[in-house]
Parts: sequence; structure tokens; C-alpha cells
Amino acid sequence: MGLKAQDDKTMVALMFETAWNGREAYEDLQWLCENTKGRISGTAQAAVAVDFTNQVLSDLSLDSVWRQEVWVKHWERGAAEQALILSKSKGEIKVPVSALGLSVSTDKDGLKAQIVEVQSFEELKLLGREKIQGKIVFFNRPMNQSGFDTFAAYGGAVNQRTQGPAEAAKYGAIGCLVRSLSSELDDYPHTGVTRYEEDGPKIPAVMISTNGSELLSALLKEEPELMFWFKTSCENLPEVLSYNVVGELQGSEFPDEVVVVGSHLDAWDTGEGAHDNGGGCIQAIEVLRIFKKLGIVPRHTIRAVMFMDEEIAQRGAQVYASEAEKNGERHLAGFESDRGVMTPRSLAVSTDQARFSKVALWQPLFEPYGISIVKRGGGGADVNPIRSSSPDMVLMGLIPDFQRYFRYHHSANDTFDKVDRREMQAGSAATAALIYLTDKYGL
Ligand SMILES: [Zn+2]
Repeated sequence: MGLKAQDDKTMVALMFETAWNGREAYEDLQWLCENTKGRISGTAQAAVAVDFTNQVLSDLSLDSVWRQEVWVKHWERGAAEQALILSKSKGEIKVPVSALGLSVSTDKDGLKAQIVEVQSFEELKLLGREKIQGKIVFFNRPMNQSGFDTFAAYGGAVNQRTQGPAEAAKYGAIGCLVRSLSSELDDYPHTGVTRYEEDGPKIPAVMISTNGSELLSALLKEEPELMFWFKTSCENLPEVLSYNVVGELQGSEFPDEVVVVGSHLDAWDTGEGAHDNGGGCIQAIEVLRIFKKLGIVPRHTIRAVMFMDEEIAQRGAQVYASEAEKNGERHLAGFESDRGVMTPRSLAVSTDQARFSKVALWQPLFEPYGISIVKRGGGGADVNPIRSSSPDMVLMGLIPDFQRYFRYHHSANDTFDKVDRREMQAGSAATAALIYLTDKYGL
């Protein structure tokens, strides 16, 4: 191994050592989880999260820390939702539900109707208005358990949540139930955004826990005429001024060329947003903290960004991208982590073959930590829009172990105690090391 390679090996080891010996990041995550629980964009908790991360970045003595104004939608859940299966033979059975983000509410007495259970939009179409009019549509297609990639399983089921209510409403449905996108059978109703069609009808929509879904489906087989009642009191309020938070180490040689590492600061209101995505934000901050602790002066500008509003409308991403364009910044690489903060397995570097081959040479540096460099899966909803002004930007990301992630995702189960300090910090170090190498050798 040449001297340069030996230096890199030493530096990567130092980064992991620094991350594992550091306590600040984990304590910051604990603070964020305990004090800003429910920080979906537009809420008071989101504003506290902005102030907190701004303060943490300011305390690192970076070259600059600032906020970018972002106008966001403001949806509030209101009082806890209630739902009952009303069965002739079994009586009233309570089931856990959670309103979908941006959903309209039921009226104050709730909504009661028969259920039509379907697995897909095709099935909905076959049933048609005649069978659906005046009823509650229940989308009950489970996440596929057969494959390795739980994100692919999520991708294969999520349209029930994002478009299901709008599709059901086209056939005259008056309410919508969606099976929780959980990989397990449990009592946590998950949530997430739904998108109505602008001029289409808007019907109240909730997710029902996986156990609740199984029970309802079984009862429907015995008693197809059973009734279902649910009540929500969510509200769509006027837009609110919020912020992205940005911290920067200025490049010594190429200050106008930027490597950005970012995650979204907003999180679903039912949980603490520990894995999705408080942990990712804290890792992005930790990258800069590691650089500072090791006295690294980067050649290019390195920025950590807490993006606001990924979960609802990605307004923070749009603002960051348009600011970058307005300021004529060239972005070399955009690193996004939004898959939780379990043990890192891979670093994704999505780019053309020539540049990927260059990055792949760094593979041996990560092998001691059980991490491989892979080509697919870099970037994400927050950094990808930057490519409109930096089309060459390399999309990077952290791929942790994701077998457990969908037990927590968008539910009350996504809490600080689910995050392991060493696992999260291994991700911080891996991210810092990839960004260090990118900065040192260019792309
Ligand atoms: Zn997320």
C-alpha cells in the first residue's frame, strides 16, 4: 500500500474512532426526540427543531450557519382518532387508526358505512361505482415479505396510501382505510401523506394497524355487511413560515464547489422521528463535527443541511435547489440518508461508470467496517432537485441494515430507544469518510 493509501486508511480509522468515542451526537438525538416529538412541518415542534439544530451547528464554530426561509403546509392531527368495527355477531370492536397527512376530517359525529375490501386499484375499477358508492374502501394489500429489500416492499404497497383515497373517491367512496405499511403484525397505526387530486373529491382517510387489518378482513369474510365507524378531527391550516438549517465549512481551494450532506428535519407527528429522520440529521451534523475534531480543512465547501418538509411537500428541497441555482453554486456531490440509522451496510454512489470506477477504488478502506460501495440508491427527495442546476452532481447515500426499519417507520414506535449509539455513529463515520475522500480526490 502506498503512502497516500496508508494515510487514507489512517484517516478513515480516525473518523470511526472519533465517532464511536463521541457522545454529543447521541445526546443531540435524544434531545431532539424528547423535545420535538411530532415535528411535522408547520408545527411548533418543527420550529423548536429548527432552533435546536441551528444552535448545535453554531456551537461547532463552523465558517457559517444560516437558515433558508421555507413556506410549508400546516396540517394538524387534532384529537386522537377513534374507530370501531360494528359487527352484529361480535359487537363493537375498537381498532387503532391514524389519519393520513393532509387528510380532511370526518364531521364531528364521525363517519359510518359498510366496507369494501380491495387489494389494488384494478380491483377497485372492476367493482365500479355501483359496488363502492357510499361505502368505505379498505385497501388491504400487505407489504411483500418475500424479498431482501424492505424498501422495495414498501414501494410496492405505498400507492394505497398516497393515491388510494383519491382513487376510491372517484367511485363514490365516502371514506378510506389503508392497511399500515408495517412489516410486522402489530397495533401501531402508521401514517404518511396522502395526495388528493386538486379538483377531485376529498374523503377522510386513515391507516389502520396491521392487526386491525387482519381482524377486519377476517370478520368481513363472515359478515360482509358489517359496519365501520371512524372519527378524525385533523385540520388543514394556513401555510406557515419555516426553515431549512444549513451549516458550512468553506472550501480552501474550491469554495464555490459544494458537497452537501443532508437529511430531513420534519418527522411524522405520531412518533419521535428517531430513525425517520432525526438520526440522519444528527449524522449530517456529526460529519462536520468529525471534520472539526480532526482539524480537517476541506478543499471544497462541505455543507450539512437539515431539510424541512420532506414528508409532506418537499418545499425545503425546492428552496435549497433554487437558492443553489440563483447563487450559481456547483454541487459536486449530494449525500442524503433517509433509511434509518441502523448498522451501515453500503455507501451508494450513483453516477456514470467512469466516476463510479474511481470511487470503487476506495472500497478497501471501508471493508474493515463491513461496508461496501454500491452503485444504486444514492440521493433522495431532498438532494435530487439540486441536479437541475448541477446536472453532473453525484448522488450519494447511506444504506444501513433495513430489516427492522418498517416496524418503526411513520409510527409511534419510531422512538429514541430504537437507536443504537454505535450503529448510528458507524453511519456518521462512513458518511464522513466518503465525503472526505470525495473532497480530497475530487470526482
Ligand atoms: Zn424519511
